[in-house]
Amino acid sequence: MSAVLDAGFFQRWLATAASAVDREADRLTELDSAIGDADHGANMRRGFAAVAAALDAEPPGTPGAVLALAGRQLISTVGGASGPLYGTLLRRAGKALGDSAEVTPQALAEALDAGVAAVAQLGGAKAGDKTMLDALEPAVAALREGGAAAAARAAQEGAAATVPMLARKGRASYLGERSVGHKDPGAASAALLFAALAEVSA
Ligand code: ADP
Ligand code: MG
Repeated sequence: MSAVLDAGFFQRWLATAASAVDREADRLTELDSAIGDADHGANMRRGFAAVAAALDAEPPGTPGAVLALAGRQLISTVGGASGPLYGTLLRRAGKALGDSAEVTPQALAEALDAGVAAVAQLGGAKAGDKTMLDALEPAVAALREGGAAAAARAAQEGAAATVPMLARKGRASYLGERSVGHKDPGAASAALLFAALAEVSA
C-alpha cells in the first residue's frame, strides 16, 4: 500500500470489489441457498453495481466521500440484511476518514475498525456467531498489523472458519444445528472486499 491513499485509490478499490462480486455472485448465492434464502449474490451484485455506477457518474473528491457515497448506495439498493450492514460499514468508515484529500493506511485501518464496530452494534452479532463479522474483524486487525495482503488472507481464513460454526444471527440462525457445515455467505463476500483491497494495493 502506498504511503498515502487518495480518492482515486478508494474508487479503484470499490470498482475492483464490484467486479469481484459480479464474478462471484453465483457462488455467494449458492452459499446462501444452503443456509439462507439464496439471494446474497444477487443482493451484492445489485448493490455494488449501483456503487460503481454512482462513483463513475460523480467521482467524489475525498476518500471519506467515496466510502460515504458507496455506503448510501448499498443501503438504498440492497433489500437484504447485508445492504444496511455493509452500508453502515462503509458510511461509518467514511465518516471516520473525515474530509482529508489523502489518508494513511493506518487511518484506513482505524476507520474500518470503527465501521466494523458499527456493524456489530447494528446487527448485534459478535465473533463466532457465523456472520460477516467473522471475516471482517480478523481482516481489519491484520490490516493494522500487516497491510492489505495480510488482511485479505485473514478475511479468507475467517470466512473458512465459519464452516463449523453454529449460526446465531441472521436467517441462518433459524436453521440451528443445520447451519453447521456451511460457509457463511456474508463472510465469503467480506473476503472478496479485502481481496480487492489487496489487489489495488499491490
Ligand atoms: P438476507 O439474510 O436478508 O437474505 P443477505 O443474504 O444478502 O441478506 O446476507 C446474508 C448475510 O448477512 C449473512 O451471511 C451474514 O453474514 C450477514 N448477516 C445477517 N445478519 C447479520 C447480523 N445480525 N450481523 C452481522 N451480519 C449479519
Ligand atoms: Mg439471503
